[in-house]
Amino acid sequence: MKALIDRLAGGEILTLEQWQGLFERRTPQDEIYARNLAREICQQHYGRKVYLRGLVEISSICKNDCYYCGLRRSNAQCQRYRLTPEEIFESCREGHALGLRTFVLQGGEDAWFTDARLCEIVRRIRRAFPDSAITLSLGERSRESYQKLFDAGANRYLLRHETADETHYGQLHPPELSLSHRMDCLRALKDVGYQVGAGFMVGSPHQTARTLAKDMAFLQEFRPHMVGIGPFLPHHATPFRDEPAGGLQDTLFCVALTRLALPEALIPATTALATLEVSGRDAALLGGANVIMPNLSPAGVRKKYLLYDNKRAFGSEAAESLRLIHRALAQIGREMSLSRGDHISIAAKEEHT
Ligand code: SAH
Repeated sequence: MKALIDRLAGGEILTLEQWQGLFERRTPQDEIYARNLAREICQQHYGRKVYLRGLVEISSICKNDCYYCGLRRSNAQCQRYRLTPEEIFESCREGHALGLRTFVLQGGEDAWFTDARLCEIVRRIRRAFPDSAITLSLGERSRESYQKLFDAGANRYLLRHETADETHYGQLHPPELSLSHRMDCLRALKDVGYQVGAGFMVGSPHQTARTLAKDMAFLQEFRPHMVGIGPFLPHHATPFRDEPAGGLQDTLFCVALTRLALPEALIPATTALATLEVSGRDAALLGGANVIMPNLSPAGVRKKYLLYDNKRAFGSEAAESLRLIHRALAQIGREMSLSRGDHISIAAKEEHT
């Protein structure tokens, strides 16, 4: 499979059959090969830098009922909370004081966050911290809504596609959610001008080499600026409670292949990966990933924002987690970057204006 991995790294668009073959027939040696190549390519574009994003989990309230997610509306055990606009702003302010220059507001699809309320929150952050990037990860909204939020000052949007296979999408989500609508949202986000993040879970129930092939083909075609990939982890109060977690090697392989397919992408070493296996974070950063998202949420709500069981926390407050990250990165020869860390295409454009 090394020849095929080389061709991928050389910029070739692979067919579904080739992708599927990679997933079915790769050996542990192929995995190591892909990861080393991914590290090299990542360094060619971004050097040794690992970009930090402060994550603010703004609400655990969600109208959706995704079968894998602990925040699903049918989970009566979930402790629901909603940060106030003031708390959201304060979290960003704390992060900014620590040097962070990207804030990610993530949450369930909570109807309280109307366009008007969200735009006000975004505008306030934009005005106070004009040097920072504002990333939203709030699920599916209308194109008009995405446009208003962009105009209010948001720059980036994370919306994982979850799986690029229609049948598989239906096995992970209730009937009212569809792959085609998810894709419409992703296209709208790109059209509006966001840096867009897609992504998927590795080892989600009913995933196959074929559905993974479709995920990779989709990434090669859509070319998102960011790609979030983590293992599926079961949550005890969801229909998937008894399903096995995704594998570490499988996840690392997907991260590496994503780097080869999208050399300039921003790819996080996800919390889910670190939850699965603490060494997974370093392994991802040495195999194609170049982003970490430390938690900026108020300490009191972190245990309520549970997408899966046993969520790993690095440090109980933001300042401590930054120190830990700084030290951990130094140990693997990476350098912590607090800069905005835009996608190369955007960063280049802004330098010329
Ligand atoms: N409501 C937002 C944010 C969702 S949470 C949205 O729809 O985009 C962010 C991501 O966490 C999801 O996209 C999903 O891929 C991941 N996730 C949810 N449940 C998970 C689980 N049980 N294991 C691993 N990842 C999970």
